[in-house]
Amino acid sequence: MSRIVYVNGKFLPEEDAKISVFDRGFLFADAVYEVSSVLNGKLIDNEGHMWRLKRSLDELEMQHPASAEEIETIQKTLIEKNGIEEGLVYLQVTRGAADRDFTYPANTKPSLVMFTQKKNLLESPQAKVGITVITSPDIRWQRRDIKTVSLLAASMAKMQAKAAGADDAWLVEDGFVTEGSSSNAYIVTQDGTVVTRHLGNEILAGITRKAALRLAEEEGIKIEERSFTVDEALAAAEAFVTSATTFVTPVVSIDGQKIGDGTPGPIAQKLRGIYMEEALKAS
Ligand code: PMP
Repeated sequence: MSRIVYVNGKFLPEEDAKISVFDRGFLFADAVYEVSSVLNGKLIDNEGHMWRLKRSLDELEMQHPASAEEIETIQKTLIEKNGIEEGLVYLQVTRGAADRDFTYPANTKPSLVMFTQKKNLLESPQAKVGITVITSPDIRWQRRDIKTVSLLAASMAKMQAKAAGADDAWLVEDGFVTEGSSSNAYIVTQDGTVVTRHLGNEILAGITRKAALRLAEEEGIKIEERSFTVDEALAAAEAFVTSATTFVTPVVSIDGQKIGDGTPGPIAQKLRGIYMEEALKAS
């Protein structure tokens, strides 16, 4: 069934939505995006996503196509028009269309595109049994803190994982895990400390990461934001990932080696439970 999508001021059937071939998002991946999850027809953690969108735009000196309030109104209209109870709203801002040139063109109008996708978020089979990951060199660029649509390296890592019979990849740089291909990565040490990479240019500041760390702290769980090696991950009691659409998802094996007893760990399950409880309360 055709969706109603949003393109530069218009709500249109997806077949009628068009973007210029000169759009810099298409030519240069000169574009940033956000994905907000939807539960019970309501946006989850959207304020955080709007904050990060602003930051990504500012880092790239890109014009804001609309205010956060205007964007949220469009998101809500799309949710309603497409009858989304559970799923996501994707939004993308590009620098707009201009003659092909590496330098940023002056005064182009940014493009704003948004669409919805239905997805079962609450009853995820992967969350029940946990996911398997392989490790793969992190070949992405060095500004991973900006959420750009330049996702080919992440896509390649995911394909490599699938070819190896795994669900996803954890990316590794200088011997340390940076993050998952589309998630933040965590381990739980044998003494029950949650360890995840510190923020910086090397990883995306996950909105779900922020919420998960706050909830873990409220539960009295010890947290360390620092680099960890693949060996440390292999020796961990548990591992898990977070992202807007997967919430907290346990990782049960890395490079074919079981983590803990090879089933979802208690801390990951607890954090998933309290994250979803809070999200459902807000929704
Ligand atoms: N890191 C990367 C590389 C991602 O693509 C994502 C998901 N977009 C995340 C982390 C998680 O971020 P969030 O919790 O805001 O979805």
